[in-house]
This record gives sequence, structure tokens and C-alpha cells, in this order.
Amino acid sequence: MARRLLSIVIPSYNEQGNIEHTAEVVTRIMQENNIPFEMVFVNDGSTDKTWDKLTELCRVNPHAVAVNFSRNFGKEAAIFAGLKTARGDAVVLMDCDLQHPPETIVEMYDIWSNNDIDIVEGRKKSRGKEKGIYKAFSIWFYKLIGDSSGLDMRDASDFKLLDRSVVDSLNEMPERLTFFRAMSSWVGFKTEKVYFEVAERAEGESKWSVKALFDYAVNSITSFTSAPLYMIMGIGIITFIISVILGIQTLVNKLLGQSAAGFSTVIILQLLTSSIIMFSLGIIGHYLAKIYEEIKKRPRFIIRSVIRNGREQSGEKDDT
Ligand code: UDP
Ligand code: MG
Repeated sequence: MARRLLSIVIPSYNEQGNIEHTAEVVTRIMQENNIPFEMVFVNDGSTDKTWDKLTELCRVNPHAVAVNFSRNFGKEAAIFAGLKTARGDAVVLMDCDLQHPPETIVEMYDIWSNNDIDIVEGRKKSRGKEKGIYKAFSIWFYKLIGDSSGLDMRDASDFKLLDRSVVDSLNEMPERLTFFRAMSSWVGFKTEKVYFEVAERAEGESKWSVKALFDYAVNSITSFTSAPLYMIMGIGIITFIISVILGIQTLVNKLLGQSAAGFSTVIILQLLTSSIIMFSLGIIGHYLAKIYEEIKKRPRFIIRSVIRNGREQSGEKDDT
């Protein structure tokens, strides 16, 4: 049976030191295992020499395809641009820094070719060398998403193999604000897991600052669940119960003629309720902002140019 084509999508942001090596390692491993493949590098508006490295790569390596964004749109956008550009019968997403071991791709490919499986999901065996607080935070974060959406996201990663049918259904999803990890579980299909050890970053450093991580977490949660809105309702119910109890107590005191000067109580209640209201308005406002983002229907990314088969073409639009 003819081996089917595998596209390997690699989002790259300021990865000048990794491109050449990553391409070399992937090419070697795919050829050794006799897997027909293309590598789709998406240059996410890098400010270093990443694009020069990619043009050079496309000149020498016939398996390389390179997509150039007009600016930095973020890893999510790069993933979706890669899914659009990929022509393979299956697509694997991997990081440019070799933290996702390319040997695992072979394992994923074999599972996909030999079984009736649509998604082969890479799960982290351990979380690499993450600092305590990040670890605690990510465990809490995935538990929250898991509980509110019913998807098991612990140890999940973007390192996945998707069958063409899955890629097509993801490409049809119209939302502007995406969360790949959850969306690729949400679509369903037959999934199998493989476990991999997170390697050390090959070259350069991680692009995530604490603020970027926080924004990513907030956006991912709100893109994927309305739980915070229901949480407001929950807080409302609790404060309502408290106010009924306090109200009865106040009335009884009043009727008994014992209504003492409750100045501190009033101040504290006032502060508490107004901060709850402000907090709730903030959450509602955030969803409102997201609705606004969605209805503007701006493209998720803008492509400046694509190099395929060594030839540069001007960019296609994200027309989902
Ligand atoms: N990346 C990207 N756009 C960005 C930030 C990161 O395409 O705005 C890519 C980056 O080049 C790498 C992958 O996403 O291939 C993971 O990034 P990084 O290694 O910085 O994250 P970490 O591994 O620390 O989670
Ligand atoms: Mg990394």
C-alpha cells in the first residue's frame, strides 16, 4: 500500500537558530522511516533572521514549504495558517525548538496508518523543567477547563497528528478567537494517545512571559467555556441567601427595638457587594469584548507570501 503524505506544521517565531537544525532532524527521521512528508514552516512575524533562514531552506530542501505572516499573530494563528496550507493526508503540529521529539511523529504516523484512528494526541509524560508555580498554575488551569467543558486537558499539548477529515473540520470552524488544544478535542473523532518526554528547548528561549501566559489562560478559558458567567450567577445566589438572612435579622432586631448602630456592617457589606458587582461586570465585559472581536470578522492572520516548490507566491487570505 502506498504510504500517505504527512504534513508537519511548525510555527516559528524568532527561531533563526533552530530552523536549519530542526529541518535537518525531521528530514532525516522521515526519510529513515520511509514517510512521504512536507514541512510547513509558518513564520509568525519574526523580528530576527527566521524568514531568511526559511527562504534559504526552501532553496535546498524540496520538502520545505514556508508561510510568511505580515506581522506576529501568535502561535494559534500560525497553527491555523499551517492547517490551511498543509496538503497532507494527515497533519502533525510540532514546535520549532524540538521540544516535541520528531521520533514520536513516526510513532504517531504508524498508529494512524495501521489503525482506524483520526487523531493521535501527544501527551506529556512529565512537564519538562517547569518551575513550581507554573506547574501548579497549569494543573489548576486545565482542571478548570476540564471541569467546565468535560474535556480531559491535563498533560495535553499542541503536539498532535490529525487526519485530513479532522483538519477539514477545523478549517471550517469560523471563530476568530481560537484555542487549538481544546478545539481539536471538541471535534471528536477516534483518538489515540502517545506519551512523550518534553525535551529541553534546543536554541533561544521561550517566548512566554508571565503576562502572555496569563492572557493566554484567560483567553483560552473564555474562548472555550461560559463557566465564568455562570460563576457570577452562583455568586449572586450566595449573596442573595446571605442578604435574606441578614435582612431577617435586621428586621427582627428592629421590631425588638434593638437595632444597634451597625455602621461597620453597612460599610463592609457596601464594599463587598460593590466589588462583586465590579468583578462581575468585568467578566461580562470581557465576553462582550470577545463577541465584538468575533463579529468584526477580521481574518485570523494575513499572509505576505508563501514559498512552495521553491517558488514564492503572494499570500492567500484567511477566508474562513
Ligand atoms: N511561537 C509562535 N508565535 C508566537 C510565539 C511562539 O509561532 O508568538 C512558536 C515558537 O516559535 C515555537 C512554539 O510556538 O515553535 C512554542 O513556543 P515556545 O517554545 O516559545 O513556547 P514553550 O515551549 O515555552 O511553551
Ligand atoms: Mg518551546
